[in-house]
Amino acid sequence: MRIALVGIGKIALDQHVPAISSSPDWELAATVSRHGRVEGVEGFTSVDEMVAARPDIAVVSLCLPPVPRFAAAQAALRAGRHVMLEKPPGATLAEVQALEALARAQGVTLFTTWHSREAKAVAAAKRWLQGRRIESGRIIWREDVRAWHPGQDWIFAAGGMGVFDPGINALSILTHILPEPVHVTGCEMDVPANRQAPIAARLQLSQGITADFDFRQQGKQTWDMEFQTDGGHLALWLGGNLLEIDGQPAGGEDTIMGEYPALYARMAALLREGASDVDLSPMVLVADAFTLACRNVVEPFVF
Ligand code: NAP
Repeated sequence: MRIALVGIGKIALDQHVPAISSSPDWELAATVSRHGRVEGVEGFTSVDEMVAARPDIAVVSLCLPPVPRFAAAQAALRAGRHVMLEKPPGATLAEVQALEALARAQGVTLFTTWHSREAKAVAAAKRWLQGRRIESGRIIWREDVRAWHPGQDWIFAAGGMGVFDPGINALSILTHILPEPVHVTGCEMDVPANRQAPIAARLQLSQGITADFDFRQQGKQTWDMEFQTDGGHLALWLGGNLLEIDGQPAGGEDTIMGEYPALYARMAALLREGASDVDLSPMVLVADAFTLACRNVVEPFVF
């Protein structure tokens, strides 16, 4: 199937292009980006221009930041194309609901991807937690924004979500593996004096769960979560890739590769089934955290 990639920036080049190239299902047939290009692939600068010129491309994958994502997704869906959205699937919940309704009306597939759910040990963690009651949980998601989002001012602008951009990955795993729905009960966020979005946030959630997100981590990066249950202790290390049960290794792999090939395989399966997959639950937690947050102004941040 021919696919177009929109927003040729860091994640498009690091993950989407290699995942598409290595898949038997897909052929990268066009890109849409104002500055970004992929060598040997026809490039356009707007979705409208691309869909008009290439009626043979049925699927569009959007790797833009969340704020410009809606207009691009709407243009692709209106042109009758199936659409895959990077996480977070939009800047607001209502935008994604509007896209879901549009996809349904057009009879096309919409897939709100959550790449961290494809990490190596997430499925096993979900299976183990079924039938167990969560007594407490702790999420620590701390990374260096300069390493993972170099120069990306959009991430600290309104709608960029700040530290919730990686934090939502943890919440996408959390909402996927817990046997019972979870909600936010409190939040404190640190916002640099020269920015709109938080550089760190601490959340309280139901079921005794806390989350600590921080973009100022130097050295070793931390993407961990652990849960005490009525039937033992589960830990997921390395962004959901390594599983430990009661302190003993219980599966997974020490790698952060493989998530994007799984997303593209899933998109191919959704197209074969004629189905959509739209899950807003991680983004509901982020929206509620912003609603409840106490806000501290902290020192200005420059890349
Ligand atoms: P990025 O490097 O800044 O790339 C996004 C591209 O989108 C830009 O290169 C730009 O290309 C295009 N764009 C269009 N309108 C834009 C606007 N108003 N502001 C900025 N860029 C605009 O960002 P990224 O790291 O690839 O992240 C994109 C999405 O992927 C985000 O939703 C992020 O959460 C997700 N993601 C990122 C990572 C990561 O590690 N960086 C990991 C997983 C998921 P043109 O200028 O050529 O149009």
